[in-house]
Amino acid sequence: MLLSVIVPCYNEAAVIEATHQRLLEVLDGGSIALEIIYVDDGSSDSTLTLIRGFHHQDSRAKVLALSRNFGHQIAVTAGLEQARGDAVVIIDADLQDPPEVILEMLEAWRQGCDVAYGQRTDREQESWFKLVSASLFYRLLNRLSDTPIPLDTGDFRLMDRRVVEAIKLMPERDRFLRGMVSWVGFTQQAIPYRRAARHAGETKYPLSKMLRFATDGIVSFSAKPLKLATWVGVVISSLAVIGILYAIGMRLFTDHWVSGWTFLSVAILFLGGIQLLFLGIIGEYIARIYQQGKERPLYLVADSQGFDDEQDA
Ligand code: UDP
Ligand code: MG
Repeated sequence: MLLSVIVPCYNEAAVIEATHQRLLEVLDGGSIALEIIYVDDGSSDSTLTLIRGFHHQDSRAKVLALSRNFGHQIAVTAGLEQARGDAVVIIDADLQDPPEVILEMLEAWRQGCDVAYGQRTDREQESWFKLVSASLFYRLLNRLSDTPIPLDTGDFRLMDRRVVEAIKLMPERDRFLRGMVSWVGFTQQAIPYRRAARHAGETKYPLSKMLRFATDGIVSFSAKPLKLATWVGVVISSLAVIGILYAIGMRLFTDHWVSGWTFLSVAILFLGGIQLLFLGIIGEYIARIYQQGKERPLYLVADSQGFDDEQDA
C-alpha cells in the first residue's frame, strides 16, 4: 500500500523545510509506504532548489516543476496525475493543514471511506473579512449548485485511488477541485480540524484570485445565474404592465396625464444596467466555453525528479 501526499508550492521557501520535516515526522515509519510529491507552481524564489534538496536526501520526496505559475488548482491536478498511491492526500505547503490530521484520514480510509475531507472547525488568525466572505460564499454556492459541497472545507483531503481516477477523467479547465470531488460521490466523511495560522510567508491568494476562484466555483457548478435573467425579466415586465394600465387609466378616467422625464430616464438606466449585467454573466459562461474549446493542455512540466517515467532528469 502506498500513500501519496501532494504539496502544491508557490514561493514557499520560507516554510517548505518546516513542512517537509513535519510531514516526515508524522508519516515516517507508519504502516503505509510514502511518496511526497512537491509541485512547484512556477516559484520565483528558492522553493524549487529546496525541494530538489529533499529529493536528493530522500527519494520518497518527488519534484514536479511546472513551466510557470498555473495556479493552485492546476498544480494540485498535476500532482494527482503523477500520484501512484492507493490513497492520495492534498495538503497546503504552509502548515495551515496540520499533518497529524492525515493519520485520522488514513484511519477513516481503512474503515472503508473513499474521501476523508478536512472540515475547519476553527481558523486561527484569519481576517474577519476572509471568515465572513468565505462563509457567505459557501452558503451561496450550495444554494446554486446541484452538487452539495460541504461547508468549511478546503482541498485538504484524502482520496481513494478510484476517486483520483474519476477526477482524472474530468477535463475541465476551470477547476474547483473541492466541488469536483463532491460530484464524484462514493462514501465521503468529514474529519474536523482546527485550521492553523500560516507558519511563515504570505498568502498566495490575494483578493483578486479569491474572487476568480469564487466565480469558478459558481460558474462550474451551476447554470442558475443564466436563468436568473428570465426571472428578473418577468418581474420587470410585470411592473411595466402595471405602469401601462395605470397610465391608460389616468388618461381615460381623470383629467391628469402621467408625466415626468425623471421616471423615464431612471427606468431606461435601470433596464440598461440590468441588461449589461446579464450580458456579463452570459459572457462568463461563454468565455469558459471558448477556453475549453481551445483544448490546450492544462499545464506544462518543465522538469521532474523521482518519477518512473522521467520527463527530464
Ligand atoms: N499555491 C499554488 N499556486 C498559486 C497559489 C497558491 O500552488 O498560484 C499554493 C500555495 O503554495 C499553498 C496553497 O496553494 O500551498 C494555498 O495557498 P495559500 O496558503 O497562499 O492560500 P490561503 O491559505 O491563504 O487561502
Ligand atoms: Mg494557506
